[in-house]
Amino acid sequence: ATPMSVMVGVGKAAEYGILIRNGQALQSASQLDILVLDKTGTITEGAPAVTDLIGEHPQMLQLAASLEAASEHPLAEAIVGFAREQNVSLLAVENFQAHSGRGATGRVDGIAVTIGNRAWMSDQCIDASAFESQARELAEQAKTPVYIALNDQVAGILAIADPVRADSVAAIERLKQMGIGVVMITGDNPHTAAAVARQVAVDNFIASVMPEDKAREIVKLQQAGNRVAMCGDGINDAPALARADVGFAIGNGTDVAIESADMVLIRNSLHSVADAIELSRATLSNIR
Ligand code: ADP
Ligand code: MG
Repeated sequence: ATPMSVMVGVGKAAEYGILIRNGQALQSASQLDILVLDKTGTITEGAPAVTDLIGEHPQMLQLAASLEAASEHPLAEAIVGFAREQNVSLLAVENFQAHSGRGATGRVDGIAVTIGNRAWMSDQCIDASAFESQARELAEQAKTPVYIALNDQVAGILAIADPVRADSVAAIERLKQMGIGVVMITGDNPHTAAAVARQVAVDNFIASVMPEDKAREIVKLQQAGNRVAMCGDGINDAPALARADVGFAIGNGTDVAIESADMVLIRNSLHSVADAIELSRATLSNIR
């Protein structure tokens, strides 16, 4: 594209609430085959809340929330918020350790507390089978089940729901109509991922992806001959945003995501991705 037409495109994009950090990306956005969307905070609002508590241990919520108070994970924030609402007091934590894409451990009130997904329980040699079928049922309702173990015995689960953004379904439908293949990627478990994928009707989804592996999934799609865009909000999306042919960051996402992206979506809406692609196609056809 000529510098002039790119300048016009950048100005137009700003009117749509799209901040272009890299002019070259305006050109790449006209030729995309696949758009990869992060789930949490991108397709969903990123405001998770506890919906279910299953388990008999009277101190389970207090111990879980006390541990999670030391974590910065959005699921941890949901658990702490829920405990506060119930006026549960938080206790001090010792030996806190967080494990990206898995969960956390630490000692609270002399008890070893382990919180996280099924894989995390397996890593810690904790038998979580007593709550497996209930966890699965919750996951099929698009909720994320979090296991809680006390002294290496599974005590129960908390289910956490994060509502889909109001316009995600319509925006994804619009993107598919534009001939773009839409794929969801998430660190969440396959059952929860499948339920959300069905709800928003993406073409495909990739679940249980460790944060460091998101970029590798982008490369795989590129190596299969696709031009790939990525849209995300989190620190764990930054390498994938940088690797993609076009990286879109959600405007209220983390700074690292914004710095790694080519375009920033100020309206926090997936419609802006469709707007950017349409604008890019129009800018390019004006030049030809
Ligand atoms: P996403 O890609 O959806 O943002 P993450 O990679 O951050 O997911 O986390 C993947 C999974 O790891 C979560 O769905 C959760 O099951 C588990 N997990 C990670 N950290 C925690 C935590 N502090 N408490 C509970 N579960 C956690
Ligand atoms: Mg996210």
